[in-house]
Amino acid sequence: MRIAIGGFLHESHSFAPRATGWAEFLTAGGFPAYVRGPAMFDVLLPTSAPSAGALAVAEPRGVDLVPLSWCFANPAGPVTAEAFERISACLVADLADALDAAPLDGVYLDLHGAMVAEHFPDAEGELLRRVRAVVGEDVAITISLDPHANVTALMAEKADAIVPFRTYPHVDMKAAGARAMELLIARIERGNPWRRAFRQLDYWTPLTMQCTMVSPMADVLTERARLAAGNGIVELGFCFGFPYADFPGCGMAITCYAEDQSQADAAADALKAYLDAHEADFSGGAMPVQEGVARAIAASGQGKPIVLADTQDNPGGGGHGDTTGLLAELIRQNAPATLGMINDAESAEACHAAGEGSEVALKLGGKSDGVPVHVQAKVLKLTDGRFTCTGPMSAGNPADLGPSALIGIGPVKVLVVSRKMQALDQAMFRHAGIEPAAEQILALKSSVHFRADFQPIAQEVIVVAAPGPVVADPSSLPFNNLREGVRRRPLG
Ligand SMILES: [Zn+2]
Repeated sequence: MRIAIGGFLHESHSFAPRATGWAEFLTAGGFPAYVRGPAMFDVLLPTSAPSAGALAVAEPRGVDLVPLSWCFANPAGPVTAEAFERISACLVADLADALDAAPLDGVYLDLHGAMVAEHFPDAEGELLRRVRAVVGEDVAITISLDPHANVTALMAEKADAIVPFRTYPHVDMKAAGARAMELLIARIERGNPWRRAFRQLDYWTPLTMQCTMVSPMADVLTERARLAAGNGIVELGFCFGFPYADFPGCGMAITCYAEDQSQADAAADALKAYLDAHEADFSGGAMPVQEGVARAIAASGQGKPIVLADTQDNPGGGGHGDTTGLLAELIRQNAPATLGMINDAESAEACHAAGEGSEVALKLGGKSDGVPVHVQAKVLKLTDGRFTCTGPMSAGNPADLGPSALIGIGPVKVLVVSRKMQALDQAMFRHAGIEPAAEQILALKSSVHFRADFQPIAQEVIVVAAPGPVVADPSSLPFNNLREGVRRRPLG
């Protein structure tokens, strides 16, 4: 059995301050940098990427694996036409070369599912269309997706099975990759495709209400698992979508693959009916930043940190990681807090030029979005921004955030970095000499992913809404290209 493997992952925010170019795929920001050819396997195996799970299934089965290319860039604005074409062209060319060498039985692709390219809003649909056109109808294709995927009918049509992760925080990425590979092998062995159903939901859910550790999303997962165990069901996938992509496919979707069409339709309809009946449960929001900081100060000092989540500048949702609304409020209220991370290469460079122990005047943050805060800061520690993640989501994944500095502004400490990454792993603080569990208040640029590594050490979590592009209520953004009738918030 001969199977080609590739990956192209991006989550695109149509209204984020900066586009995602080719260069953004070339550095490691919580996942490995762009890799092509045989080096792919060694690079991916030690990580939490879905491909690592797929490789772990394929190797003991004696599959002849053909590496294509794999890349990831942190969420931001749409992928430039140049980047999409370069990456897709290499992937499809390598696939064509593989076909010239010997017949292929299958293709596994490690995709995110919420990529928007400048010239193809349904970017994964377009990539799958190209791959399918080259390999033909008889070669099986399965994909794994992030559940923030905005799944489209084209994606469901071109893939023989779609396997989204079940969890948010995403602690089961490898499991989804493993399952996509198992289904690919099963699909090759049976020789013909499963029947499929695709359903889109009529309302969106805000990121902060998508966490699967608590209700209502935890209950949706229980219902999904119950329906997935039904007769003839091969895979029942639920994606809660990424509500910042300005195209008709944006929103929640269900895909079901089954032995016969009535089974696929019934399971997809039942899960959709469950979600429709629970729409009101997904309303909810974030606390105003002034109130959130005051509450954190009042609750702090009892042995465990209070976590403030700066959801609207979440670099994992397309924020640039440099808004200053929460930072300014922490300084204004003299909060005993440590903030991770402000993405500001200029300030990090100024700290490195000044040296550890010196005082520097900085125009901190606000370079891409919002306004800088003028501060007099002490440089507490300088680093090269390199560390390996240790938390449940990303253990083993490399980060290379460029010249970085821990600075002190009165009681407020700030980790300043040169490239963005979501604050989802304690290792980012430890690499700068901070033990997170010993801090009084931790301010994190993240919406939900931080919960996997930080909730266990937190006394309380407070989600705050400081100005930023990853708005807790997406209905406030200037969408132009959505499908008719979709509601941008529950009951909206
Ligand atoms: Zn996600």
